Amino acid sequence: MSDEHNNHPEAEGKGADGSGHTDEYEKICFLCRRPESKAGSMISLPNHIFICTECMQKSFDTMKNSNINYSDLMNLSNMGMIDLKNLNNQIPKNQRIKKKAAKKEPVKAFDIKDIPAPHVIKAKLDDYVIGQDHAKKVMSVAVYNHYKRVATETMDEIEIEKSNMLMIGPTGSGKTYLVKTLARLLDVPLAITDATSLTEAGYIGDDIESVVSKLLLAAGNDVEKAERGIIFIDEIDKLAKKKNTNQRDVSGEAVQQGLLKLLEGSTVEVPVGATSKNAMVPLTSVNTRNILFICGGAFPELENIIKERLNEQSSIGFRADLKDKYDDDPDLLGKVAVEDIKSFGMIPEFIGRLPIIFTLNGLDRKMLIQILKEPKNAILKQYQKLLALDEVKLEFEDGALEAIAEKALEKKTGARALRAILEEYMLDIMYEIPKDKNIGEVVITKAYIEQSGGPRILLRGQEPKLIGAQ
Ligand code: ADP
Repeated sequence: MSDEHNNHPEAEGKGADGSGHTDEYEKICFLCRRPESKAGSMISLPNHIFICTECMQKSFDTMKNSNINYSDLMNLSNMGMIDLKNLNNQIPKNQRIKKKAAKKEPVKAFDIKDIPAPHVIKAKLDDYVIGQDHAKKVMSVAVYNHYKRVATETMDEIEIEKSNMLMIGPTGSGKTYLVKTLARLLDVPLAITDATSLTEAGYIGDDIESVVSKLLLAAGNDVEKAERGIIFIDEIDKLAKKKNTNQRDVSGEAVQQGLLKLLEGSTVEVPVGATSKNAMVPLTSVNTRNILFICGGAFPELENIIKERLNEQSSIGFRADLKDKYDDDPDLLGKVAVEDIKSFGMIPEFIGRLPIIFTLNGLDRKMLIQILKEPKNAILKQYQKLLALDEVKLEFEDGALEAIAEKALEKKTGARALRAILEEYMLDIMYEIPKDKNIGEVVITKAYIEQSGGPRILLRGQEPKLIGAQ
């Protein structure tokens, strides 16, 4: 058993003390599993075992009252009954806590000058995300302000409020994609969680603090980095208070309550390298004060609530025929007010901690076509690149793109359907084309998408030829 840990990071480089402990990771108390940053200095025992002074004292106290002594323990070890040699090395790498950066000079988390201005953030988002101009603008400003707040900490008594956000938009309209793109551009760690998987502590499911452990994981167990990251909680609308139900509500309101402290900023004890606490996993504390929380949801039926409110307002002192004034309003969702979200079932304290509320539009046919071809990593560009590696040119007729968008609209899952649809049609192309080295160009036609014809195949230096049309 003793040699199977040779590929362990600690086995690779011996620490300065020769203990096999490299400086990059914290020592962990063998008994209470706390890292040295929490438990204080560690006593090194033979065989890379570290014990914090508190546990050492407890052990001495216990030994005083019993007949066990250290030499008995070593005898057991020598007899092969317990393996003391590798006990400490058994902590997997993903459960180790990176040491905080040496505090030679106080390192400032962020320099204000490093934070890109809102128009720069928006321009970068424009490269990837089609439409949703309002959402991109609101997010750019909110993120800019958030990181300004992080950079300045509290300069004086005017504390800048946290810019946690609530984004409301139909499924597949780019909520997750916006957040992912943002985190990548800002180079901060991101954790994405589904609100439906969260439960109150004690119930089956992930407890609320698991969102912070996910972020810590995304930050490579670097607490300082995680403390500046972004947590995206999707499907937040599923936490709405259920109306007219007698059942005990375990996933909704209670989880909203549980999230309040995190959204606001508090210190939580999270397991390292795991999303649930158990006795064998070391814990570390993470402060959520500077973590940006973005909640997203489709909020179905919210439009009806908005319409009802607007109708009620407009009917005061007006004629009743104004009642259906908002029925065909395409921007109804954009008129959302905090009271509508409350009526939907979110508790006031929860909404209060998400001061930035904005909506995304459902994607229309034109936007879907743009999504196919315009973003920097557009799906069409990806297929074109793949075929270009075979020196084959790939083109799409405008009619074909329209037909793909039409099919996606029918599925009612926004842009999410696009890739699946395209994949279905490209499968045959990707399978057949490499068979014939003479093929120089493929044109995806409208007929091919509508299944009434085939793609147009152009051989190298020859006239166009239709395949699969018969
Ligand atoms: P949701 O709003 O349900 O979170 P997603 O952000 O997961 O939707 O969108 C699914 C996929 O659709 C994304 O990965 C992205 O490729 C594409 N997509 C959605 N909206 C847009 C958009 N506005 N611009 C570019 N791509 C988009």
